[in-house]
Amino acid sequence: MLRIAVQKSGRLYEDSVKLLKECGIQLNNGYGQLKTKAENFPLEVFFLRDDDIPQYVFDGVADIGIVGENVLLEKAKEIDIIFRLGFGKCRLSIAVPKSFVYEDLQSLNHLKIATTYPNILQQYLNKNNATAEIHEISGSVEIAPSIGLAEAVCDLVSSGSTLFTNGLKEVEVVLASEAVLAVNKNLASEKTDLLNKLLLRINAVKTAKNNKYIMMNAPTHQLENISKLLPGMKSPTVVPLAENGWSSVQTVVNENEFWDVIEKLKQYEAEGILVLPIEKMIV
Ligand code: ATP
Ligand code: ZN
Repeated sequence: MLRIAVQKSGRLYEDSVKLLKECGIQLNNGYGQLKTKAENFPLEVFFLRDDDIPQYVFDGVADIGIVGENVLLEKAKEIDIIFRLGFGKCRLSIAVPKSFVYEDLQSLNHLKIATTYPNILQQYLNKNNATAEIHEISGSVEIAPSIGLAEAVCDLVSSGSTLFTNGLKEVEVVLASEAVLAVNKNLASEKTDLLNKLLLRINAVKTAKNNKYIMMNAPTHQLENISKLLPGMKSPTVVPLAENGWSSVQTVVNENEFWDVIEKLKQYEAEGILVLPIEKMIV
């Protein structure tokens, strides 16, 4: 049985549970439950506060965990990151009041920065030979400057709207973070096998999200050009249409190249291009 720790409630909860579902793992969890067993995979899920997840994985109480890289680095536990999950994206940033004349980190020398991430921030200051003073607090960081607790803050940001409504501006990105799958360093081989099975599924789900299945009709005399453009998984599938001189071409295209490819396909006279989402993709 593999044991995974996920956030009990909060920003990572929904995406974590959704990922397991997309991996075909059924959980009969009611919201607020502390642990549950998957019905169709040897997996036990612990629902915890995100701050506790690195310790649980480090101690081996859980074998793996889904947690923000920001929390993992702050707790500085010896745990491996095995997969970057692509959700829970945010930045740990330094922000100052809008009226503050900020040039670089040295502008904050001898001033106070309020944060719940003292370790990550201290490392960043050291690396940049800056001497700002860290003032550790446990929450509501963004109000620290307006109540005179500190001149600056170091906090998690995604859109920046919280900073803006508190009269702050973002001036330094200390860390770009996302949710990661973290793994205990001493997994038994039976657990490693289960982890590999889970990773195969996670990979299939994530790869599928980054790719689209496209179908189009193309004049047969353009097939060579189009095939060169579309490597697909091996090469595109080409099926002749009932109408002479035309074929149906089907293949997989990566999201990053998608619009480039579509433009070129049109130059090669492709018509009726259909784009479909892929549910799972095993390469
Ligand atoms: P818990 O009750 O589990 O301790 P929390 O309040 O500490 O929850 P959340 O606010 O739910 O934590 O955030 C969990 C994680 O979501 C963060 O550690 C971070 O990795 C990620 N995240 C993504 N966007 C943001 C954001 N705008 N603000 C804060 N965290 C974010
Ligand atoms: Zn937390």
